[in-house]
Amino acid sequence: MNKRYSNLEPYTPGEQPQDRSYIKLNTNESPYPPSESVLRVMKREEAENLRLYSDPQAKKLKQALADFYDVKPENVFVSNGSDESLNFSFMAFAQEGGQVAFPAVSYGFYPVFAELHHLKMNAIPLKEDFTIDPKDYENIGMPVVIANPNAPTGLMLTPDQIEEIAKSNPDQVVLIDEAYVDFGAETVIPLTKKYDNLLAVQTYSKSRSLAGARLGYAIGDAELIRDLETVKYSTNPYNVSRLTLELGYQALQDPDYYRANCQKIMDSRAWTIAELRKRGFQVLESKTNFVFARTDAKAGKNLYLELKDQGILVRHFDDPKITDWVRITIGSQDQMEALIEKLDVILSLS
Ligand code: PMP
Repeated sequence: MNKRYSNLEPYTPGEQPQDRSYIKLNTNESPYPPSESVLRVMKREEAENLRLYSDPQAKKLKQALADFYDVKPENVFVSNGSDESLNFSFMAFAQEGGQVAFPAVSYGFYPVFAELHHLKMNAIPLKEDFTIDPKDYENIGMPVVIANPNAPTGLMLTPDQIEEIAKSNPDQVVLIDEAYVDFGAETVIPLTKKYDNLLAVQTYSKSRSLAGARLGYAIGDAELIRDLETVKYSTNPYNVSRLTLELGYQALQDPDYYRANCQKIMDSRAWTIAELRKRGFQVLESKTNFVFARTDAKAGKNLYLELKDQGILVRHFDDPKITDWVRITIGSQDQMEALIEKLDVILSLS
């Protein structure tokens, strides 16, 4: 293997067990199926056309996303999951051997992309309460990547705070990863019209129930989008499958369905947070489809293992900064009630 890559420590995705059926609250998927329009396509129409390559320009989907977000098609890039938009952005918007700034507790893929592309990481500590101080990123003079809301904390910055970061770094790309924005936070997409260095990245994997289809997108100034297209055409022009392009288009036809699902998830989130707090858990205020929680009664790793024994998968991270904590995806209300029941069993045994 090329020495350049042989020491890479790759990203570890959450478990996707194929043998035993768990209540799966570990990878922030939606508990609800895709909408009717999407399911119809899966059954017939586009499957027949799979012998043909997908449209490398993704014209139909880009137009639909542009209409949905009130931008122009030239402001939209589509990718194989939002991970690919992130990867291409790390490639495109940081200088060879240069630095990139992101929060020290955030999406675990950022350090991997930084290493992959030989960038120096400027991992900026969070405040004691796990919030991001936007001042840390103002005038920083290097590309910035911030998940908003952040993961795994679930905490958010306001568009005003992000605007200050973009405004004070006019010569650097400020990438806002909005994977979880539909669960109660506010997008910076409107601000991308005002700041040509601001890029918003979103995904179909969470609020639109299409994690397995792999579809993400970036929205920003046409010049940034052209740069991403250059990287894409230099690696994989057909990066999004024909089927996925069509599923993405159809999902946009059913916005009420997805909005209602997000609301159900936010309601179950409020219920789950209240139940956890009643049991003495510390739970951060979440604007996402997961909650980040800890208890004095049990170490994070043990909580994860004992819940797994009980048939419930949550996520624990082997990072000393957050080793006491577990991240719990908000599933259906029934799944969350099952979680609380099992927690009571575990805590009463200890
Ligand atoms: N950003 C964040 C903050 C995430 O948590 C995830 C999900 N693991 C992603 C991006 C990538 O999601 P996807 O590639 O499924 O769009």
